[in-house]
Amino acid sequence: MSNDTNSIHDFDVNLIVEYYSGTERQGPGSPEMTLRALSFLEHLPDKPDIADLGCGTGGQTMVLAQHTNGKITGVDLFPTFVDLFNRNAKTLHLQNQVKGIVGSMDDLSFEPESLDLIWSEGAIYNIGFEKGLQYWRSFLKNDGYVVVSEASWFTDERPAEIEDFWMDAYPGIDTIPNKLAQMQKAGYLPIATFVLPVNCWTEHFYDQQVLARENFLKNNAGNTFAEGFIATERHQETLYRKYNQYYGYAFYIGKKF
Ligand code: SAH
Repeated sequence: MSNDTNSIHDFDVNLIVEYYSGTERQGPGSPEMTLRALSFLEHLPDKPDIADLGCGTGGQTMVLAQHTNGKITGVDLFPTFVDLFNRNAKTLHLQNQVKGIVGSMDDLSFEPESLDLIWSEGAIYNIGFEKGLQYWRSFLKNDGYVVVSEASWFTDERPAEIEDFWMDAYPGIDTIPNKLAQMQKAGYLPIATFVLPVNCWTEHFYDQQVLARENFLKNNAGNTFAEGFIATERHQETLYRKYNQYYGYAFYIGKKF
């Protein structure tokens, strides 16, 4: 992203980062569901080595830190998120346990077979579920766990409006059985899967954005990109409220074999 042709794009990306910096989470989820996913992991070491990939500002990371003795490295592409992540860690007195670094989830600097657990909520789609699971596997110790949440279809068929939206936004969305088969094929034993309840999207994600949207539009009045971006966000929310019986997020928990 360093050449001139990308500079407008960079500017737009910065605006998106600014917007999501004003929200508690950057994707659907909740502390309760993070803990539910964690509850499926058996025989974690006393002080597990954990990576949280696409950690954002660390909503779920801090919950993990408070419920494991683990050392957690959060990785995110955007320095603004990582700064906020490290600030949040400090506020919660977790800075000795939790550290955020800038990096890309498809180019990790961990030692091979060094991690007990790779966590990633609402982020693996950035490189694709199958590709991410395959690549991350080499960083896990034997019997290490991967825990990811991912957009999933709940039915075999759905209305054209929502099908078209997802084929454009993330064609990698698939049914839960197909995702589980992909996980197994990538070298993991699927341990558990569960669907995130609707309140992970409404109460914990969209409702939290009401104020952020107002502030963002005020700060960027007259900026067509910013206005278009908020319109898109609102459209996505409308679609979710209309079609949430057809899709949502599911957690997928796998053990390396
Ligand atoms: N896990 C957080 C954030 C989810 S949003 C939560 O649930 O709240 C997706 C995150 O992935 C964003 O923070 C985004 O900056 C990050 N991201 C996007 N592409 C990435 C990449 N290639 N490597 C690492 N992080 C990436």
